[in-house]
Amino acid sequence: MKKYLLQENGNFYKANLHCHTTCSDGKLSPAEVKELYKSLGYSVVAYTDHDILIPHDELNDDDFLALHGFEIEINDPECHDNLIIKTCHICFVGIEPENITQPFWHRERYLFGNAPKFRDKVKFDESLPDFVREYNGEAITKMMLEAREKGFFVTYNHPMWSLESYPEYMSYNGMHAFEMYNGGCLAEGFADYSPRVYDDMLMGGKKIYCIGADDNHNHRAKDSRKYDSGWSWTMIKADSLKYCDITKALVDGQFYASEGPEIYELTFEDGKVTVKCSEADKITCNYGVRRAGIELDETGDGIFEASFDMKPEWKYFHITVTGKDGKTACTNAYFAEDLFNE
Ligand SMILES: [Zn+2]
Ligand SMILES: [Zn+2]
Repeated sequence: MKKYLLQENGNFYKANLHCHTTCSDGKLSPAEVKELYKSLGYSVVAYTDHDILIPHDELNDDDFLALHGFEIEINDPECHDNLIIKTCHICFVGIEPENITQPFWHRERYLFGNAPKFRDKVKFDESLPDFVREYNGEAITKMMLEAREKGFFVTYNHPMWSLESYPEYMSYNGMHAFEMYNGGCLAEGFADYSPRVYDDMLMGGKKIYCIGADDNHNHRAKDSRKYDSGWSWTMIKADSLKYCDITKALVDGQFYASEGPEIYELTFEDGKVTVKCSEADKITCNYGVRRAGIELDETGDGIFEASFDMKPEWKYFHITVTGKDGKTACTNAYFAEDLFNE
């Protein structure tokens, strides 16, 4: 029986799952971010200002949904030179619209940019002591797991910009997803399109999704190619634009990440995975084994579909679609143990 890995029904909603506004160190107000992203064809923005969870329900309308979240940075205290400081950045997005109590709150530390001005708007559990951040795998794993338990969708951000590599990111467990693309970092020249990091983590046993996001701060001129909005996004397939439908789709992995190409359909049937997409020059399928699949446009007319074998012993697969302009879209990874046991 054909299984739709991106659900058959519903609609695709274009989402920016990581952004900054005047509530922390961004240049645009939350309403200006909404207007900008609506003009770029987005339906969803997760407001993830640094260190401060401020809901923006007032921005919701029939065509736009504001998710609430925040981003936390945990810096390596061993290092005092800002240019080489290692750091771990995590976004937390509330899965329920009512979930506006900020975990990991410290009454005095960590806020920067405009965030201190909004301190009084933060709702936190007053019975808890101030949360002190610790830069090590165990402490960061504990944060990720606690955030999940408290109802947040957890993403690990921009490994390259953070100067983190294999030993660090492999020690973090509990994320739902990591940033395959971070537009803001790409716009600054960092290599934050990270397919290798994804395969490292998948081969290392992590069952995680991959997203694309802008992490926009909007400080550069809007007409400059370095403007950090519209670089990469997440296409969410959901029943509707209601808060809980969108976050359910996130938790269920009903999405793909892109910086251009579109994926229309992803199905699995009789040991074959099939992807249908916008005009591509190349479509590849990667597994956690020494075998890969590739289709190339041999005629110049473009390719719009590809099928690849998948076997129970091949751990997982994920597909990358490359358009004529070199831009890519990446599916989530799908695991053999789930594909063949349902
Ligand atoms: Zn960050
Ligand atoms: Zn950020």
